[in-house]
Formats: sequence, C-alpha cells, structure tokens
Amino acid sequence: MNIEINQKKFELIPKQMALDNKKCDFVIDKSDVAMGRDESKCIGCSACRVACLEFNHLGIPVETKVGDCTYFRPDGKVNFADSNCTRCGQCTIACPTGTMHEIEYIEEVKAALADQAKIVIAQIAPSVRVSVSESFGLEPALNMEKEIVASLKQLGFDYVFDVNVGADFTTYEEAFDLLDRVKTHDTPMFTSCCPARVKYIEDFHPEYIGNITSVRSPQQCLAVLIKTYFAKIQNLDPKNIVVVSIMPCVAKKFEARRSGEDKSGTWDVDYVLTTREFIKMVKASNIDLAKIEPQDFDSVLGEASGAGAIYGATGGVMESALRTAAFAAGHPLEKLEVEAVRGMDDIKRVTFKIGDQEIKIGVAATLANAEIIIEEIKNGAHFDYVEVMACPGGCVGGGGQPKPAKHEIIDLRRQALYKIDAEKTVRTAHENPIVEKIYQEFLHCPGSPEAKKYLHTEYDKTQARVCEIKEKI
Ligand code: SF4
Ligand code: SF4
Repeated sequence: MNIEINQKKFELIPKQMALDNKKCDFVIDKSDVAMGRDESKCIGCSACRVACLEFNHLGIPVETKVGDCTYFRPDGKVNFADSNCTRCGQCTIACPTGTMHEIEYIEEVKAALADQAKIVIAQIAPSVRVSVSESFGLEPALNMEKEIVASLKQLGFDYVFDVNVGADFTTYEEAFDLLDRVKTHDTPMFTSCCPARVKYIEDFHPEYIGNITSVRSPQQCLAVLIKTYFAKIQNLDPKNIVVVSIMPCVAKKFEARRSGEDKSGTWDVDYVLTTREFIKMVKASNIDLAKIEPQDFDSVLGEASGAGAIYGATGGVMESALRTAAFAAGHPLEKLEVEAVRGMDDIKRVTFKIGDQEIKIGVAATLANAEIIIEEIKNGAHFDYVEVMACPGGCVGGGGQPKPAKHEIIDLRRQALYKIDAEKTVRTAHENPIVEKIYQEFLHCPGSPEAKKYLHTEYDKTQARVCEIKEKI
C-alpha cells in the first residue's frame, strides 16, 4: 500500500483485512468530544502513526495486538479521552479506512435546526471558504464564501456570520498583549488560536503555559459576542441561540468544550462541524455549491477586515497582529504585507521592527517544527512572538479538511486567502468599523475588564501532564 504523508511517500503493509477484524475483539471509541475510532475498519497499516510522527513527532497511535489483529490505539489505550492526543486530526486524513475519524455532530445540528424555539447561527472559519470547491467538481481553492452562506441558509440556519470578524477581535486584543509583554520582557508570547498546539504545550511543555496569550481564538471570540452583544441588540435569550462553527479543524471541537469557554453563561460554541461534515451535510440535502445562488454573510455583526482572512494561513495570525501592534505603538506600517512570515516554509525566523523596537519572531507550521523552536528557546534563543499552527500550511491544511490533503492544493488555498485580504478595503483589525463600534458600546478598550471577561481565557495548569515525546520512526 503506497501512501503520501507530509510530501513523503511511504510503502506500508496492512496487517489484516478489515473483515478479519470481525474475528477479533474490537472497540468503537466514542469517549472523546473530538476524536473517535472504529476498530472494526482497521487494517493495521500504521498510516495513522506515521502521520502523527511526521506532523507532530509524537506517534500517539501505538501498535497494539488484540488476538490475531493489530490495531493502533492512542497511547496504547482504548480511549482517546485518556490519551495525550492533541486532536490535530492529521491521522484522520491519513487513515485510508475511516477507522480514525472526528466525532460527528451532524445529527445534533439537524435537531437544532428542526427546533422552532432555537435561533441557529453558523460561523465559518477563514480557510473553509477556499477548501470546498474541488468537492463540488470545481477547480481547487476557489473562494466559495457566498455559496457556503447560501447553502447554510438553505439548510435552515437563521444567520450566517464570518469567523474572520472574530479574528479581528482576537488580533486587536493579542496586539496589545504582545506590546505589554515586550515592554515587561514577559516573552516569548505564543499565539493561542490553534487548540491542538495549546493542548501540546499543556501536555508536553507545561512550563510554557504562561507564555500562551490568554486571548481567545476567533471562533470563541465571535461566539461569545453572538451570545452577549448580538443577543442583547436583537433582544434574544442566549439560551435559545445555538452557535455552530464550520471549521477546518478537529481540535476546535475539543476547544469548544474546554473549561472557561462558556463566558456567555452557556457553551459559547454549541457544535463544531469540520469542513468534511459540512460537505457531507450539504450533499445529503442535494445542494450543489457549484450551482447555488450566492448570498452575503449576515451583516448584523459587520464585515471582516483582510487581516481576519489570512488567519487561515501559516504566518497569518502573526501578520494580522503585527499590523495592529505597529499601529498601537504609534508606527503604523506603510506596507501591510509582512512577506517574511508568509509561505509554506516549515519554520520562519524574522526580526521585525516597530519603530526602534526589534521584535524577534518565530513562525512554525506543524508541531514537529514547533518542537524545534521550543528546543531553541530552551537553549537560550530569544523570541518575542511565536506563532504555531499544528497543521501543514496552517488551517488550510487542517485535520478536518477534505481528503486527500495534497501539498499543492493546500498552498493554493493559502494563496487564495492572501488574495481575499489584498482585495479588501479595510485590511487591519483596528480599522474595522464593527470592532470600533463594539469596543465603544460594550468592550471599551483592549484588555478592559469587559474584554478580559469575554475575550480572554486561561489555560489550566492543573490539567498539565508531562509525557515523554515518543521516538521518531
Ligand atoms: S489527532 Fe493528531 S495527535 Fe492525535 S493521534 Fe491523530 S495525528 Fe496524533
Ligand atoms: S487506524 Fe487507519 S491508518 Fe491506523 S492502522 Fe488502522 S486503518 Fe491504518
């Protein structure tokens, strides 16, 4: 069996046919909110383990003999929930049989849509819009945001909002957090918007938990504003609002159920669907995105800036925050494009100047590359600001994206996001009129008690476990 993972070709030998598994005991693991396994489909090929080692240097799926069968179990345990899996989802893309899969919430979302008492609101992540076209027979990496909005309306969603707006709030808060930390020498500051990476730090490098910015991720920022600010101006009971995120990511399901992600008084995000689940749901309703009449996002929560769009690409979070940090420091950028942090390189190390202040930057795509930067920090290298995305190319290569995940297509999606940014009139978070309005009316200023209450969280040191990083094959 030949398989390509992380641009490398592997020849793997399955240990059994899926049918053989029926002779052995098998587990259907539904213990976790994000990751599941159906061992009855497993052929013992080890592609899941190879993906976990290639992208994360972890090797969480461990070869386990059960009778005559060979399975790959998370940390050798029966349940994902008991393992140190980061929920990055890359093994779900590599697994040829669907044994490794995300926990689906399609039925729960359909039930909410059928409930007349509920206001069901979808929010779409930056990278999803450029990741669905090939699944509908079109060329890859087309921007399908208006077709996605139309399809969700057809499915019965009451409102469809853009997570890029949430990204503008994350950027605004994070830029000020960065400037404060640089001033007080409390660096490096790590970005927080990749939940697989947060889990990785908690489990494998707990000594750096305090270095993760406390600013919540774009899906969480927008969701809490929906259930507080939006609910108030629309005179809605937040308990009747159901927020459904459409995400390129399996770990976002995990993030949505972390302690502290219920700042509105109930879970801020009710359900997370991966891009794959979204496509499955749309196709099951015979909706063809290639033919549907496009529709705009609902405008009650405004339009996103270009800075929000590039969150889906490696280096994008960093670039968005630098645009606003430079403005906040009194040295607005003459050229908004920070080319040095763009591109598919595994690691970028850059010195960026805001006025006379030098900011040492690291950008890593995949946890394997994050580990290299962390080792450098441990060995004395100085970084002020470090962005890590667990997936190749950033969210455009996310573990919840359509299969197969070809490197060339991931790069096309990345470029498509920069095109969206370039074509926007407003390209910085701080110039976004809805950001200005909500700060005036509700949040007051970055880091205010209200901003801290709704747009920040904390990472739970008590949950941290120190584990050995497993050997590379
Ligand atoms: S989800 Fe990611 S960390 Fe977990 S087993 Fe799969 S590849 Fe490894
Ligand atoms: S879980 Fe999937 S990738 Fe892993 S050994 Fe089984 S069939 Fe292969």
